[in-house]
Order: sequence, then C-alpha cells, then structure tokens
Amino acid sequence: MELQCEQCGGQVKIPEDAVSGEIVACKDCGVEYEAIIDKQGTVELKSAESVGEDWGE
Ligand SMILES: [Zn+2]
Repeated sequence: MELQCEQCGGQVKIPEDAVSGEIVACKDCGVEYEAIIDKQGTVELKSAESVGEDWGE
C-alpha cells in the first residue's frame, strides 16, 4: 500500500504487515510518519515530529 507524502507529494510505502504506530519514511524526502491503522484497515499518516529531529522548514 502506498500513501501520498504530505511534504513532497511522493509515495510513502506502507508494508502489508505494518502495525498501527509503525514508523514509515518517505523515500523521496525522508520525512518520517507514524502509520495509524484503524480497525477497518484504513491507514493514516501522522507526522512523527516528536522524534525530535529538527528538519527545518
Ligand atoms: Zn516526501
């Protein structure tokens, strides 16, 4: 499954066996997201900003 990166519009790949809370990274810009997966299997990307790295704007 692939979702669109909010930062660059690239594709963020979600492994099929991903669990909710899994950290995934955009291969184009390197931004990391937390993959939130609900009971229906819908995946939502949440910016993993709390990791603490300063990625500037
Ligand atoms: Zn990206």
